[in-house]
Amino acid sequence: MIGFIYHFACATMLPLQLALKKTIMNTQKFRHIEKLVEGAQTSDGAGVKLTRVLTGKLQRRLDPFLMLDAFGSDVPDDYIAGFPDHPHRGFETVTYMLSGRMRHKDSAGNEGFLENGGVQWMTAGRGVIHSEMPEQIEGVMEGFQLWVNLPEKHKMDEPWYRDFASDEIPEYVTADGVRVRVIAGESHGITGAVTRKDTEPLYLDVHLPAGAAFQTPVPLTHNAFIYVYRGEVTVDGAKAGKLRMGILSNDAEDVMLNATTDARLILIAGRPLNEPIVQYGPFVMNTQDEIHQALDDYRNGRFVGGAQVKK
Ligand code: FE
Repeated sequence: MIGFIYHFACATMLPLQLALKKTIMNTQKFRHIEKLVEGAQTSDGAGVKLTRVLTGKLQRRLDPFLMLDAFGSDVPDDYIAGFPDHPHRGFETVTYMLSGRMRHKDSAGNEGFLENGGVQWMTAGRGVIHSEMPEQIEGVMEGFQLWVNLPEKHKMDEPWYRDFASDEIPEYVTADGVRVRVIAGESHGITGAVTRKDTEPLYLDVHLPAGAAFQTPVPLTHNAFIYVYRGEVTVDGAKAGKLRMGILSNDAEDVMLNATTDARLILIAGRPLNEPIVQYGPFVMNTQDEIHQALDDYRNGRFVGGAQVKK
């Protein structure tokens, strides 16, 4: 009898529980696409064609990120000239090479090499002069360069960089078959190749099979965006197509992505610094005086040419 009552109670409770669960699921709030951005075609270095996805006018909205360039071409003339010697001061550069071969050299004689799936993280700090040159004369060169700002207190730190081969980038695969490469930060309990204080960047490369969903929390404090480089996804129900950046709203913690086709995207988030941003080309400081100082230091050979290489 007790068993009967128990079963009866369970049977009547079940629809209620399901309805409750559905309500909870329906009311979970996700970050939505606040704005879709189509990058601007431009060229940089000695004439490398690229798409500037994150431009100067978005630096405040997407603080601490200063720039995102996407490059991708199988036409050697689009990339062969590379980026000969140039300086940086005041921020970090993150180069993610999806496909291709690139050599990095700085004026202290340090060298690094980046190829298919590899990442170079460079903290320019008080200054480096370096070159980034393709080491291929044909084939596809595709990837991204992201600039992450440094807080005022660390802008003049000693420069360093580190190269990560593709197999050094931590990865995981979800039950839905979504492959996630964790370049920076932490996701689903996996710590990325790089973790940084202050800006706490999250940098994921997410590969979704058609029909798959991927959910990840991004701290409410962080600004976040995606850039779709293959296929198409929806974010909280709104479409983000290929070669589009979706700036994500700051009104929820979680991000929910659904792939309408096989899709690949990068998901990037970071804690804003909320400090003044004064940029002059490859120098990003807090005041105009510091920019004048950077120019003066560069012109007078005070950029000690080289970064410490971390292993
Ligand atoms: Fe550079």
